[in-house]
Amino acid sequence: MHPRAFEYVRASSVPEAVALLAKGGEDAKILAGGQSLIPLMKLRLAAPSLVIDIGHIPGLSGIREEGGFLRIGAMTRHREFESSPLIRERYPLLADAVKVLGDPQVRNLGTIGGSLVHADPAGDWGTALLALDTELVATGPAGDRSLSIDRFFEDPFTTALSPSELLTEIRIPKAPARSGGAYKKLKRKTGDFATVAVSARLLLGPEGKISEARVGIGAVAPVPFRSIHAEDSLKGRSPSDAAFGEAGRLASVDSQPGSDLHGSPDYKRAMVRVLTRRALETATERARM
Ligand SMILES: Cc1cc2nc3c(=O)[nH]c(=O)nc-3n(C[C@H](O)[C@H](O)[C@H](O)COP(=O)(O)OP(=O)(O)OC[C@H]3O[C@@H](n4cnc5c(N)ncnc54)[C@H](O)[C@@H]3O)c2cc1C
Repeated sequence: MHPRAFEYVRASSVPEAVALLAKGGEDAKILAGGQSLIPLMKLRLAAPSLVIDIGHIPGLSGIREEGGFLRIGAMTRHREFESSPLIRERYPLLADAVKVLGDPQVRNLGTIGGSLVHADPAGDWGTALLALDTELVATGPAGDRSLSIDRFFEDPFTTALSPSELLTEIRIPKAPARSGGAYKKLKRKTGDFATVAVSARLLLGPEGKISEARVGIGAVAPVPFRSIHAEDSLKGRSPSDAAFGEAGRLASVDSQPGSDLHGSPDYKRAMVRVLTRRALETATERARM
């Protein structure tokens, strides 16, 4: 199918994109990598009258460490993570996630900002960033505001971003010493969204005990979420099969999987248990390196 007719504008700056969003109102849509928006427009599930291309705005993409944060521009394409030595060496959780996101064509065009705003419950970035205490910067007519990833996803395909705002930056606190993270995804084949995905980040104290834990779960609830029960169960414990098995059990209890072509709720809960344990094991190995 062809999309409905629409006006296309290429914005040259963030203020111009924000002004265009205000002008277009509910009928305007930002175009980033187009990997979700264009298929939706072709299926006529989205029919914006104004499409604002942010792909040529200088400074809206890139990955750098600055001021205690890893700062990522919203227009940063998935493939830029794959080729970044900084991501590979210091943020292996993100390197894990991008390796299993879609296929090379999708990674060449799709962006982290588009993925987060699209808010697919099985989207890889949403689940991955939950373990990393991430802040998202939204820019609107009143300026910038910061949103925690914990409260960003409100419903499937719905976020806390207002229609007049642009997601401009993703900020992750720099990885502290003796911390490690990992991302595990179960999918049927290359290019598929997750059947189940788990991210985990651990901080080890001086005696090797877990002083902080974050566990993000994707694809088994209306939105990616943190398993607070799993996290609380880990604090103060030594990394062990028993501790990680218990965290996996609690994460599976916190999940609300539905039944679909990928499997039954019982199967998905079992996979949450397995992937949580594996993510915690890898995160521990990395924290000890
Ligand atoms: C075959 C295929 C397989 C895929 N597999 C996976 C997968 O395994 N895992 C996964 O996570 N994803 C997968 N995706 C989705 C992919 O990651 C997309 O790139 C992503 O969901 C959307 O990013 P985009 O840059 O293409 O955004 P677009 O499609 O351009 O936009 C998506 C939505 O976000 C809005 N938007 C975009 N950027 C901004 C911004 N900065 N501020 C405000 N609003 C914005 C748009 O208006 C639109 O509503 C797949 C896609 C395809 C086509």
